[in-house]
Amino acid sequence: MNKKIAVCPGSFDPITNGHLDIVRRGLCVFDKVIIAVGHNPLKKDLFTTEEKVVMIRESVVSNTRIEVDTFEGLLVDYIIKIGACAILRGLRVISDFELELQLALMNRRLCPTIETFFLMTDFNNLFVSSTMVKATAAAGGSVEGLVPDAALKKLQERFPIMKV
Ligand code: ADP
Repeated sequence: MNKKIAVCPGSFDPITNGHLDIVRRGLCVFDKVIIAVGHNPLKKDLFTTEEKVVMIRESVVSNTRIEVDTFEGLLVDYIIKIGACAILRGLRVISDFELELQLALMNRRLCPTIETFFLMTDFNNLFVSSTMVKATAAAGGSVEGLVPDAALKKLQERFPIMKV
């Protein structure tokens, strides 16, 4: 039987426990989830793609059903190339919905056979975003418990004033 593979795309700058929550929930439905790091031209990244991949790999190393990869160009082309069938995205608050709907409909227009699945995050991650984590760490606040250890270590290197 063909394995059902979903791709969870994003900037992951850096990976948070919110992202990991969505990926782990995705494994209840899919055989494998590939975390695909892409560059969002609308966002100014703190970490390089290589740094992001290292942090994510360290965070998911114990789960053989999660893979980490990078992609450039159209997400749907990448998904077809690797033989996946679905896009996995997380929803936190109503404000996520507008952009996510646009993205999902554009991807459907580009490739009607690839479905986008939205999963609801855990209550504890409702306010967690990479942007909020970076802003808090840069100002010296603790983000312990909001990001995996590998990301916490990298943020500490980048922002030595950050409390632990
Ligand atoms: P992008 O730049 O494509 O939005 P992100 O890395 O910011 O990439 O997010 C990737 C996906 O993870 C998006 O679907 C986003 O809604 C979701 N996500 C981000 N933070 C959380 C969270 N705390 N809980 C659930 N989903 C989240």
